[in-house]
Amino acid sequence: MRLSANFDSSEFRCSCFNCTYLEGPDKFPHPELVHVLQWLRVRVGASIHINSSWRCKEHNSDVGGAKNSQHLLGTAADISVTGLSPKEVYNILSETHPDCCGIGLYDTFVHFDVREIKARWG
Ligand SMILES: [Zn+2]
Ligand SMILES: [Zn+2]
Repeated sequence: MRLSANFDSSEFRCSCFNCTYLEGPDKFPHPELVHVLQWLRVRVGASIHINSSWRCKEHNSDVGGAKNSQHLLGTAADISVTGLSPKEVYNILSETHPDCCGIGLYDTFVHFDVREIKARWG
């Protein structure tokens, strides 16, 4: 299902492919998450690869995710952007979301989630 100009719901699904796929914007991914990613896509003019977004409980523990991970809520995505380093992506998201959201910098990707309280790591 198409969620925005450049994103399809299949890109956000749990990558274990064993769990039930709860399709629909009311379930996951969070509409605000799609909104920010689409905004970023336009801003950078480059394709965004979603490494991991929604995770079922089983998959989240398989990949060592935190128990209260935002990935369980459909509010998070781990992304990489063609032609940009994770640090550059991190900086763009931090500057444009100074008072909210979870943003984590990793070697090969950036974690972004739309939680209300500001969190930064990496
Ligand atoms: Zn799963
Ligand atoms: Zn993440």
